[in-house]
Amino acid sequence: MDKILKNYINGKWIDSFCDKYTLVINPATTRKLAKVPVGCTQDVDLAAGSAEKSSFEWLKTPAKQRIQYLVKMEQILKNHTDEIAEICTNESGKTFAESKSEIGYAIDNIRHACIIPSVLSGTNTANNANEYINRMPVGVAACIVPFNFPILIPFWFFPYALACGNTYIVKPSEKVPMTMTRVFELFESLKLPSGVLNMVHGGKETVNAIINNTKINAISFVGSSAVAKYVYQHGLLNGKKVQAQGGAKNPIVVMPDADVDTTVKAVTDSAFGFAGQHCLAASLVILVGEAANIFTPKLIEAAKSKKCGYGMDPRAEVGPLITNESRKRIRQLIQEGVDEGAELLLDGRPVTVKGFEDGFFMEPTVISNIKHSGIVHVNEILGPVLGLIKVETLNEAIGLTNSSTFGSTASIFTHNETAARRFRHNVTNANNGEFFGNLNSIPSSPFGNIKESYYGDLSGQPINAIDFFTQPKIVMENPNKDE
Ligand code: NAD
Repeated sequence: MDKILKNYINGKWIDSFCDKYTLVINPATTRKLAKVPVGCTQDVDLAAGSAEKSSFEWLKTPAKQRIQYLVKMEQILKNHTDEIAEICTNESGKTFAESKSEIGYAIDNIRHACIIPSVLSGTNTANNANEYINRMPVGVAACIVPFNFPILIPFWFFPYALACGNTYIVKPSEKVPMTMTRVFELFESLKLPSGVLNMVHGGKETVNAIINNTKINAISFVGSSAVAKYVYQHGLLNGKKVQAQGGAKNPIVVMPDADVDTTVKAVTDSAFGFAGQHCLAASLVILVGEAANIFTPKLIEAAKSKKCGYGMDPRAEVGPLITNESRKRIRQLIQEGVDEGAELLLDGRPVTVKGFEDGFFMEPTVISNIKHSGIVHVNEILGPVLGLIKVETLNEAIGLTNSSTFGSTASIFTHNETAARRFRHNVTNANNGEFFGNLNSIPSSPFGNIKESYYGDLSGQPINAIDFFTQPKIVMENPNKDE
């Protein structure tokens, strides 16, 4: 009998009201792991009702007391890192090391959320009156999570939301719901007041119910751009605060003078880690001038050396893709790129991983001469595919970088300070890096994107989190007025 996942509502594990399910599958072994409900309005209504009911008591709970629960959460994640990481690897395909590092980033966010009490206090802003800004929680907030960071992304939001006095609902991705289910089971030992932290499973049915629920006041979404835009628009129409992070296409500009070893390692680790399914994966390398001749053979060599395998095998560097449909889509995009005239320098499509012959694996693929504005250039492939584009000048590289409809990250590899400065100054695509394949910023930075990579104005994490998860309330007192 398949394990059926339950929702966690009001401090209890509860069956979904819906009787339709999707399968959770280990993408390396294709073994069925569990059934997860597709979700429905009644599930969300129950969770939102319970979160709303507990929100008044929770906001009255002193902030320093709220933080104590977060401190204990950190300890639970530390004590159970291997167990949680193994579940994550088995349902997402990540390597065990990648799953463990995700837990490390989640812990970083918990720690940062613990500073919130010190910045929530009121401010005296007037001369003749005592005027304070009290930051009131927004009430009930929810996050909608993508498949590629089942642990980290909920922790981008709910520790801050709870610290600010909100109650919360997490909706994991239906493709990888087991990791957060286990985390919630472990969190039962916290004895958080019932209803403060809830989890509702499901797919788009649950998302629509969240968007339409009148008790939920704020939504944090992370996923593909099309769904981000949908959630943002419909959430706003329903009067909610919404921050919606979308997809990405992260270009890396390589100048001829860049250090070969550093560049090749950073680019290939970023492009092929988690089988290229990170939102920050370096999927496009823009080679300037002579860099094409210097770097192309080295990138192919490094890509070839990456070992595909089951994430629990310590030798594996590239795990499977999340689903077979995803693999079919990626193979199709590669073919369309080739049909447009791109050159397949390394074809990772035919692959057999011994012992895991049915797994959704694909080996690193390198495509060169990709057409400007063509299939491989403009689409977020979300697979182990590195596209190479040759240009003659840095200006052309900057122009190409800025032409993307996405706006997540862009990096340059060079020793030439003038080139680096021009890049920093002229690239408008959100976050810039030098010598970085993946720009994993620290939690205290307001990580956010622009264009189709972000819908909203306040990014998650500390600086903006307080503005997102609270509503300022002005309180004025006349100090000279007698009782
Ligand atoms: P997705 O958009 O398919 O799903 C994200 C969430 O939306 C899931 O919880 C899913 O249940 C729900 N959903 C899916 N289709 C829906 C629909 N039609 N209507 C309503 N809800 C729907 O994304 P994914 O494939 O799970 O995740 C990968 C995407 O997430 C990539 O585009 C990646 O770049 C992006 N991502 C972005 C960031 C960032 O920081 N910007 C971080 C991680 C992932």
